[in-house]
Amino acid sequence: MQQHLQDYARLIVQVGANVQGGQAVVVSAATDSAYFARLVAEEAYNAGAKEVVSRFYDEALQRLHYLRADEAVFDEVPRWIPAFYDEYAEQGAAVIHITASNPELLMGVSPDRIQRANIARGTALKSYSDQQMANAFPWTIAAIPSEAWASKVFPDTPISETMAQLWAAIFKAVHIGTGDPVAIWREKIKTMSARADMLNEYRFQTLHYQNSLGTDLTLRLPEEHQWVACGERAGTGAEFVANIPTEELFVLPDKYGTEGVAYASMPLSLNGNLVEDMKFTFEAGKIVKVEATSGLEHLEKELDIDEGARYLGEIALVPYQSPISEMGILFYNTLFDENASCHLAFGKAYPKFRDSQERTEEELLARGMNDSLVHVDFMIGTEDLSITGVTSDGAEVPVFQGGNFVI
Ligand code: ZN
Ligand code: ZN
Repeated sequence: MQQHLQDYARLIVQVGANVQGGQAVVVSAATDSAYFARLVAEEAYNAGAKEVVSRFYDEALQRLHYLRADEAVFDEVPRWIPAFYDEYAEQGAAVIHITASNPELLMGVSPDRIQRANIARGTALKSYSDQQMANAFPWTIAAIPSEAWASKVFPDTPISETMAQLWAAIFKAVHIGTGDPVAIWREKIKTMSARADMLNEYRFQTLHYQNSLGTDLTLRLPEEHQWVACGERAGTGAEFVANIPTEELFVLPDKYGTEGVAYASMPLSLNGNLVEDMKFTFEAGKIVKVEATSGLEHLEKELDIDEGARYLGEIALVPYQSPISEMGILFYNTLFDENASCHLAFGKAYPKFRDSQERTEEELLARGMNDSLVHVDFMIGTEDLSITGVTSDGAEVPVFQGGNFVI
């Protein structure tokens, strides 16, 4: 176990954030995850970090805050919080998030308080998150188990074993325990990038999704769109991997080009609440109707945060036969579930264009890039999903059949 933990910390530092000599590193983690944050910090120093700055939060206190704090605080963010992040972003620091979320942390909290806090925080940190999504600095998110999360994932396992079971699933998902994980990941980045290059050659204008859940959706891709895999280059020059694990190839849609219906294929843990059996109806790109059997109020609050929240910002392809999907585990954690399933995100788009570097923000927005304070992935992949791409000369190319790539 100790060796696996060390390998995992090294993977997060060397491949995830790809920490360079002399670089500052920011590590955020829950208090329960402090032992692992220390391992990550040690690896960061081994990689030559100038300093490791920690940001700890406590989930139980977060819950208490949402339940008990004065109404006024949900509309405010202290000035030092954006100042902290902006300063490290400016320095080109590597930012590492260790998550261990309880998927139902905020059950019973007023959706109104959560929405107001998200608006306040999103607004205060807008410039930081814009830089993050444009890869101005290297950043990565990885997860470790917490007791609440593990017992949600394995409800039938005795409490004494759930943590070990979730650790085993995470290690498998991130390729720990089968050789040198850093070498395995470098190889994985190559293979996935080659597939992204293949998709880029088609220059698809639209993608049409269909499955037996009832999804029947057409997505338009913007001009000069670029499919990407993990292994992106930060403004600081280093190649980094934003999500560990990752199995997705993704691109942005044209904001106004989505028509039809999409059924979610997994529940979504949104703001510490589960949203189940979602159905989205789109007209001219906009989510005009949303249904769910539970958590609907939380979903609607998120979609009402701003104008862009009701438009899509990401299209991601993940084969049904992929390592995490084949484990057959519902993680109730987007970092894992999104890498077991084709997904979409509503809200802000990643600026994935061939020529993003040479274009202004205004030019990219004019091409149909969506902007919002939110970015929420939701899973729509199934074992019978078919996706057909249509090229500029009208040729129809099967991209996915039976839930898997056919190109
Ligand atoms: Zn994604
Ligand atoms: Zn996303």
